Order: sequence, then structure tokens, then C-alpha cells
Amino acid sequence: MATVSIGGETFEAGASILHPKNYHALNYSNLLGLKVKPPPSSEDDDSMSLGIWDGKKFVFKTLQVDSKFPLVQKIVSYVNSFRIFFRYGFSLLKMGSFVESTVDSFLKYYESPERRPIFETVDEMLKWAGLYNLTTQTLQDELIGIKLSPLLIEELVTVITRINYGQSVYISGLAGAVSLAGSGGGLWSVDGGNWQMASGLINSSDVSLHLNEEIESISYLGEYYELNSTKRKSYSCEVAVVATPLDEVNIRFSPAASIPERKLQHTHATFVRGLLNPAYFGLRTVAEIPELVGTLEDPDLPFTCISVLKQLDENDTTYKIFSREPMSDALLDSIFSARLQTNRINWGAYPHYKAPELFAPFILDGQHLYYVNAFENAASTMETSAVAAENVARLILSRYFSEASLQSSNLQSFSPDADVSHFDL
Ligand SMILES: Cc1cc2nc3c(=O)[nH]c(=O)nc-3n(C[C@H](O)[C@H](O)[C@H](O)COP(=O)(O)OP(=O)(O)OC[C@H]3O[C@@H](n4cnc5c(N)ncnc54)[C@H](O)[C@@H]3O)c2cc1C
Repeated sequence: MATVSIGGETFEAGASILHPKNYHALNYSNLLGLKVKPPPSSEDDDSMSLGIWDGKKFVFKTLQVDSKFPLVQKIVSYVNSFRIFFRYGFSLLKMGSFVESTVDSFLKYYESPERRPIFETVDEMLKWAGLYNLTTQTLQDELIGIKLSPLLIEELVTVITRINYGQSVYISGLAGAVSLAGSGGGLWSVDGGNWQMASGLINSSDVSLHLNEEIESISYLGEYYELNSTKRKSYSCEVAVVATPLDEVNIRFSPAASIPERKLQHTHATFVRGLLNPAYFGLRTVAEIPELVGTLEDPDLPFTCISVLKQLDENDTTYKIFSREPMSDALLDSIFSARLQTNRINWGAYPHYKAPELFAPFILDGQHLYYVNAFENAASTMETSAVAAENVARLILSRYFSEASLQSSNLQSFSPDADVSHFDL
């Protein structure tokens, strides 16, 4: 989570949208008195135009009518729904039920603690909610299995997985369902920036925050862990929780911890204040370019999506571009006719999903070293991180205050599988 400031306005630079059923995030926001709002790009959801770009032409475009009259906007919205239905047919309904049933299964994680077990492994946690099987095959296979039309998978579904996870329909069925859920209605964000949820929770807890200081090593010294930081400080902890993906950080563990090898998907977020060049899209005027340009899966396409964040006036608009590779100045100069400001962020964003997925353990060493981000292989969102974190908190309470449960814990969860590629940390 982070914000970027462009032209005096603040925009989400990373995690931007929350689902209406992201109940932990909703609770935090209420608890902290944060103001909830629809994300900027969907403020007038109905009139937001979409185009699917294949690198040469728009294979599909919704109608775009710039009208201030609500009735006209409503008619345009109906016509667009009809056009989408005409292209993809009843498959859209099947896609909707697939997403809905996945969300319903996920809702089990909000059941009362008395009815909800404490999970020592991600596999166990997913199996209990009926979500595990979705991680064993790709989204594409899952959707073919429920007889979704190939055109819908190739176009709309691909556009959505590319926007939300920067990846194709070869991601796992679960990551895919989460990604599709992030394209529905009722999405929201926190006014002023989603980061306020984390910062508000820290401020209202009894914790010490050490900013601009990284943990370099974690050593188990019998009774406690010694954590050493980049500020040459040393901390002794009875319990240590790793709450960042371990794939690209340089933390030394002693004794070594072993987790399945995983690659992070890098998403380059480029923010441009300026004006798109209609000629790049084979169009005559900027007004003809859809406000959200999604793309098909083609390695030659230099971006995954471009969206309008804010139109200041006819010649001055703020755009967000996601791409798998950095956007060079030369490339941006071909896509834009004017650029007043450009900001680039390279995110080690989320796991590069595959099927079947493999999960790192929540308990890294069989003692009290925990790993929240093991759950990200199921799906990476602000809410899934919160759900995983809550489980780890419960795991700590149950294991730490009852050594008996430590004895009975599932030791297999942290012993590396001989057939699987692991790496030592
Ligand atoms: C471009 C983009 C778009 C996204 N869109 C959405 C979205 O719309 N909705 C959504 O729900 N999710 C979205 N996500 C995913 C979401 O951001 C993540 O799932 C979520 O932020 C993960 O939270 P986390 O706390 O587990 O990890 P992080 O947010 O990565 O936090 C880890 C923290 O650990 C710190 N850290 C790292 N190394 C060390 C160290 N050695 N010592 C101490 N501290 C360390 C980091 O500085 C960081 O503050 C998006 C992500 C990206 C990049």
C-alpha cells in the first residue's frame, strides 16, 4: 500500500481496491473512523468506458457518451450491458456464480472463533473452507470445466487477471477467482489512502514501531530469537513473526529455514499526467480512447492496462499504467502526445501464480517463528493478508500458552518435501 501525489492529488499507487465482503478491512476502517469511498476510476462506474486492445485494434469497446444527464448515462449503461451480454452470452452468468461461490467459501474465515479451527498449514486452512482444489488447477482449466465460452476467457477474463495480478489465465483457479471478484461492483477504498488502515492499527496498538530499519538476521538461541537489524541493533523475542514475502528479501535464518521456491510477479506502475496519443491506438481523437484500456495476452504488448485516474481538463489527465517491464521514455512518448509528470514504481507485487500451488508453512521452524505471507500463494490481497495474520495470531496464542499443543503440533508442516524444490533462507 502506498500513495503517489500527482498534480496536487493523491492516488493509490499499489493496492487500490477492496471488496465489499472484505470484512476485516471494513471493520478496521470503522474502528479507526476512516472514510470509505469508491475508488477514483469507478466513481461513476456506469459511465466508465472499457476497451480491449490487442496491440493493433480494439477487439471490443463499450459505448462512450460524454453526458452530464443521469438518464443518458443510464441508457448508455444499459446499452453497454447489452453489448457485453451479446458478445459473451450466458457465460457471464456462469462466471458470476463461480466468483460468488468462491467468495461464499472464503466467508467461512469470518465464522466465530469457537466454530473455526486454528490452522497450522495453509493447505489445511484452504481445505477447511473448500478452497484447496481451486489451487490445484489453472483458472483456464477451471473455467473450461464449467463450460465458459473460450471468447470470454480469452478476452474479458484475461483482461481482468492481467489488471489485478499482471498475469494470464494460467494462474491458479483460486487466485483467478479472487482477481475476478476484484472486478465486480461495490468496490471501495479508504479516502486519503488505504495505508491508513495499517498505520491506524499500529497507532492504536501497544507496539513500538521501528521505521527505516530492516531485520537482517533471525537466530534461534534456545529460549528466544535474536533479531539483528540494519541499524546494528539487536532484539530478543520469544516469538518472531515474518510478515513480508521472503522471496526477495535478504534475511538470514539460523538455523536455516526452508520454503518452496516462489517467484514474485513484478508490476511496474507508471503514473503519467498528460494526454494519450490517439494515433497510437489508430484513433482520431483522445475522446475515442476508452477510460480503461485492457489488453489480451500477447508478449509483444508493452503494457497490461492504462486507466484514467482523473481528468483535469481536455488536455490534462492523470493516467495509471501497469506493465510487466519498465515503461521507457521512448515508449511513453509514442503512447502519449504530452507528458507533464511521470512517476514509476517497480513493485515485487504478488506471487507468480501457478497450478498446482505449493505453500510454505505458517510455522517456519517448529518453534515460535511464524510466516504470515505463506498464505499469499492462495491469493494476495490486503484482506487475505489480514485473514492469514489473524490465524497466525491465534496460532501463537494457542501454541505459546499451551506447550502441550506445541508437542502435538503438526511437525510435517515444516519438514521440506523431498520432491519439491525448496530453498534455504
Ligand atoms: C500494484 C499492486 C496492486 C495491488 N492491488 C491490490 C488491490 O487492489 N487490492 C488488494 O487487496 N490487494 C492488492 N495488491 C496486493 C496487496 O498490496 C498485498 O496483498 C498486501 O499489501 C500484502 O500485505 P503484507 O502486509 O502481507 O505485505 P506488504 O504490504 O508487502 O508489507 C510488508 C512490510 O514489511 C516490510 N519489510 C520488508 N522487509 C523487511 C525487513 N527485512 N525488516 C523489516 N521490515 C521489512 C516492508 O517494508 C513492508 O512494509 C496489490 C499489490 C500491488 C503491488
